Amino acid sequence: MSFSRTVLLWMSENKRMREKVPSWKFVKKAVKKFMPGEKPDDALTAATRFDLLGIPTVFTHLGENITNIKEGCEVCENYLVLVENIAEKKLNIEISLKLTQLGFDLSEEETYDRFKQIAYKAKEKLGNVVWIDMEGSAYTQKTIEFYKKIKSEIDNVGLCLQAYLFRTEKDVKELIEIGANIRLVKGAYKESPEIAFAKKKDVDENYIKLAKVLLDAAGEDKIRVAFGTHDENIIYSLIKWSKQNNFRKDKLEFQMLYGIKKEKQKDLAGRGYIMRVLISYGKFWYPWYMRRLAERPANVWFVLKNMFS
Ligand SMILES: Cc1cc2nc3c(=O)[nH]c(=O)nc-3n(C[C@H](O)[C@H](O)[C@H](O)COP(=O)(O)OP(=O)(O)OC[C@H]3O[C@@H](n4cnc5c(N)ncnc54)[C@H](O)[C@@H]3O)c2cc1C
Repeated sequence: MSFSRTVLLWMSENKRMREKVPSWKFVKKAVKKFMPGEKPDDALTAATRFDLLGIPTVFTHLGENITNIKEGCEVCENYLVLVENIAEKKLNIEISLKLTQLGFDLSEEETYDRFKQIAYKAKEKLGNVVWIDMEGSAYTQKTIEFYKKIKSEIDNVGLCLQAYLFRTEKDVKELIEIGANIRLVKGAYKESPEIAFAKKKDVDENYIKLAKVLLDAAGEDKIRVAFGTHDENIIYSLIKWSKQNNFRKDKLEFQMLYGIKKEKQKDLAGRGYIMRVLISYGKFWYPWYMRRLAERPANVWFVLKNMFS
């Protein structure tokens, strides 16, 4: 892992910086590159624009590691209202959330009840999937167990898996067996070389290896798979694989983040692949934004430019 990436990921977890940095104007301005605004309406307006381009979206209300159990109730309530609003607008929008935003650190039972309410409501009103983000490795096992339990109760739930973890190959196989909905990403957290690939080349190779296993299963209609990546080499090699294996174009799904590779998003949607854009909104953007900077430390120049403009 590069030095700048290590520093930025450390900053994302630093408590003092989490409190201070979000009030700095130039950072607030720079964040706009990655999110349309802090309010749900900002996200809905952006989703309407994507919809006109044939691009469906996924919404995340930013937040993680809440420390007061009451906050989890509010987060749940906000998502339930959001589902109603999406249903009214009749837009193709899914939801993705972090379990620690619902109170996973405080009560697994209450988190389960809250997530269940959101998933049932989404099934009833939207008929689509609610995704569980994957957080740092301290949560991997617990999150997978949580997913298996909820999946046995209600089927419209999806899980994110990280290709940088050694364990993911085994997780992929087990989750295919239960017909999971899987979003494969590279992974955004600071992990030790004892449990995760450290070099980009190795992460990329593992990503492609896992993607092919997932595509095989999706080709047999055992699972739904979505590839959460902006990596054009990976995207092209999956497109190439799908052509060679007669994998249906309209089932090959890519997901990207709002503000990154906009032209590529339009290009893929225009060529008939499923291209879903993840739109984040909310006030608690600091740790999430620092992880975006860590993914591409060149983004820091953009922040500095805003400081002087
Ligand atoms: C839909 C979606 C959901 C995600 N959910 C999770 C999750 O639940 N858990 C988790 O750990 N991670 C999640 N991630 C983040 C993911 O793990 C990676 O950190 C992130 O996608 C960057 O990896 P990459 O595959 O784009 O490849 P990279 O090799 O990092 O990037 C490839 C190219 O994409 C561009 N790019 C990538 N990131 C940025 C950026 N921040 N700013 C500007 N350009 C960039 C650059 O041109 C770069 O060269 C998610 C990502 C997406 C797209």
